Amino acid sequence: MSKPFVFLFLVAALAGWGMAQQKKSVETLNPLAGIASGRTRVVDLSYAINDKLVPWPGDTRTFEASVNASVEKNGYFTRSFWMLEHYGTHMDAPIHFPPGKTPVDQIPVERLFGPAVVIDVRAEAEKDADYRLSVARVERWEAAHGRIPAGAIVLLRTGWASRWPDPQRYRNLDAAGVMHSPGFSVEAVRVLMARKASGLGIDTISADYGASKDFAVHTLALGAGLYQLENLADLSSLPEAGAFLVVAPIKLEGGSGGPCRVFAILPPTSPPRRTGGGPNRGKK
Ligand SMILES: [Zn+2]
Repeated sequence: MSKPFVFLFLVAALAGWGMAQQKKSVETLNPLAGIASGRTRVVDLSYAINDKLVPWPGDTRTFEASVNASVEKNGYFTRSFWMLEHYGTHMDAPIHFPPGKTPVDQIPVERLFGPAVVIDVRAEAEKDADYRLSVARVERWEAAHGRIPAGAIVLLRTGWASRWPDPQRYRNLDAAGVMHSPGFSVEAVRVLMARKASGLGIDTISADYGASKDFAVHTLALGAGLYQLENLADLSSLPEAGAFLVVAPIKLEGGSGGPCRVFAILPPTSPPRRTGGGPNRGKK
């Protein structure tokens, strides 16, 4: 080849390589690439906010919304609202309990994304409403799925979401006004801290078991800089391992916590077989 041809060939090859790289990187960056084919699903683990959710015992004023502008009067619609930071599906920021210091707006964003470790204790919680996650149960999860990775968000699936939004059944108060719901234990949280988990989550009103008087899990986990997700919605569609969580708390300056959207991206199912044609290929 003459010199100009070699040059043109090189330019064309580089342009083609660049386009291929660009295409590849866009696909790589989209964790939801399987949505269109139905291979990937996103589950919303948050409850919609209104004034009928289960409040912490003693909280009487929880949520209020009023119309500021209506389509009839103003041609557009807006509202204002007032709510507790700890109501409905919400995050406890480390500053909620000393010695925790970080408010909800200062949590490093990298900690809000991570693999979901789902520990299923529905059978234990059904037998004992005061059940606390044991170290042995964490070890059983690791025996089945491997060591809990750094940056994991560890969710306790107690089955309590099936009681939502009935305050009697969800809070499960006894005659003395003490709540009875399952939770994490200090011993198990120590293991999760050693694994460098970013946060804890639970489908009950508290990361501590309901009857706790000293909130020992709050003190330990929040004090170590982890965050907690409470009143998570039904976790039953999540696999014990393989889902990825996106945690999106309100960015409230100085907040002790706040309402939080939590999304689980489920692991993609195996690709549909290529034999059939048509738009419903691979669907049942
Ligand atoms: Zn809270």
